[in-house]
Amino acid sequence: MSEIINLASLIEKQLPPELVSFIKQASALAEIKGDKLYLVGGLVRDLLLGKASLDLDLVVEGDAIALARALMMDNPAKIIVHQRFGTAKLQFSEWSVDIATTRRESYARPGALPTVKSGSIINDLFRRDFTNNAMAIKLNSDSYGYLIDLYGGHDDLKHKLIRVLHEQSFIDDATRIWRSLRYEQRLGFKLELNTLRLLKRDIPMLKTISGDRIRYELECVLKEQYPERIFARAYELGVLKSLHPSLKGNDWFEKKFKQVRQLSLPDQPPLDLYLALMTYPLTTQETEQFIVYLRLPKSLAQTLLDTSGIKAQLALLADPRLPPSGIYHLLHSYSPQAVTASLLASDSLVVKEHIQLFLAKLRYMRPALNGNDLIKMGVPTGSNIKEILNLLHDARLDGKVISKQDEEEMVREWMN
Ligand code: ATP
Repeated sequence: MSEIINLASLIEKQLPPELVSFIKQASALAEIKGDKLYLVGGLVRDLLLGKASLDLDLVVEGDAIALARALMMDNPAKIIVHQRFGTAKLQFSEWSVDIATTRRESYARPGALPTVKSGSIINDLFRRDFTNNAMAIKLNSDSYGYLIDLYGGHDDLKHKLIRVLHEQSFIDDATRIWRSLRYEQRLGFKLELNTLRLLKRDIPMLKTISGDRIRYELECVLKEQYPERIFARAYELGVLKSLHPSLKGNDWFEKKFKQVRQLSLPDQPPLDLYLALMTYPLTTQETEQFIVYLRLPKSLAQTLLDTSGIKAQLALLADPRLPPSGIYHLLHSYSPQAVTASLLASDSLVVKEHIQLFLAKLRYMRPALNGNDLIKMGVPTGSNIKEILNLLHDARLDGKVISKQDEEEMVREWMN
C-alpha cells in the first residue's frame, strides 16, 4: 500500500488564513450535500514545490455551480458561470477560485475539443496533461489534506520530470506540447525520456490545432518569465517551426527579449512588443503568413506589419546625414509600438539614435502657427496653406525656427 501523505500543513503554511477558511467552508458545504471536494491542478504541484499561488482549482463530485452559488452567500465575489461546462469562477480581489464538476473527457479526433461527461475524481485526473498536474488533495473533513497521486506526480516532482499520462496524450491534444515546454523551462525540469520521444513523434499533430488555440498557447509562453528559453527549446526540438518555418530561437532572441523586459520595467512587456521582435527576422510575406495562421487581431497584426515596414526603411534611417525632418517623415505613420520594437531590434547605433530622437522629441513637435494665423498674416486661402504649414513643421524639426516670431518671419519672407 502506498504511503499516505497529508498536505494540510502545506495548505496552512502557504495560503492566507482567509483562503484556508474559504476552503474549509467549501468542504463543509459540499459535505452537507454528500459531495466530495478536491483541490486539483497546478496549485497542488506548486504547494509541493513550496511556491503556491492564489489561484484555486476545486473539483466536486456533485454540482459545481450550486456549490459556487452557495459560497457566494458568505463571500462576496464576482461570479462567472459557464452553464454549458458546469463550471463557475469566483473572482475575489486577491485570489480566484475555479470550481468544476469532476469529469471524464474523450477526443472524437486528434486536436478536437474534448467531449465532456461527468465522472469520478479518477476520471478527472486521467484527463489531465502531466503527472505533476494530475494530483489532487482531498478536502472533506474525514480525510482533509490527503494527497491523491495516481500517476507518480510527486515522485516526478522530486526528480524534476515532466511526464504525460499515456502514449496518446499529445495526439489527443497537441497544445500539451507547448504546455510541456512551458513547465519544463518555468520549473527548471526536464521532459522524461519517453515523453520526449512521444513529443518528437507527435509534433506533426500541432497541425490539428486551430490557429486560435495555438495563439492562446503562444500568449501563455509570452507571459512566462523567460519566454526566450521556451522558444530556444522549441527550436531545438523542432516545435518552433510549426509556428513558422523561418522562426529561429537563437541568441538574438535572448538578447532582445532581455532588453525588452528591461525597457518595460516594472511591468511585463506588452504582447505586441514581444511578438514584433519575434517576427522581426521574417520577411513581410512571412510575417503575413504568421498573422493569418494565428488569426492575430487587427491592431496586433498592424504592429507586426508596421515593424516590417520600418525594417524596409533601415538603410535610409542608418544614414547619419538624415535631418530630423527626414527621420520624422520616415517614422511618423507607424504605430509607436512598432517604432519601439524597431529601436530594440536594430543593432545600428545611428538607427537607434534616430529612433530615440523621434520617440523622445520629434513626434511631439508642431509649428506654433496654424492655418488661421497664416490667413491673418495675409497668406491667400487655399492650396498653399497646407504646404506652408508643412514647411514650418520641417523647419521646426530641423531647428531652423525655434519661436513663433521665427515662424512669422519665415512666412513673411516667403510672401515677399
Ligand atoms: P499555471 O501555473 O500555468 O496556471 P496550471 O496547472 O494551473 O498552471 P492551467 O492552464 O490553469 O494550468 O490548467 C489547470 C489544470 O488543468 C492543469 O493543472 C491541468 O491539470 C489541467 N489542464 C489544463 N490544460 C490542459 C490540457 N490541454 N490537457 C490536459 N489537462 C489540462
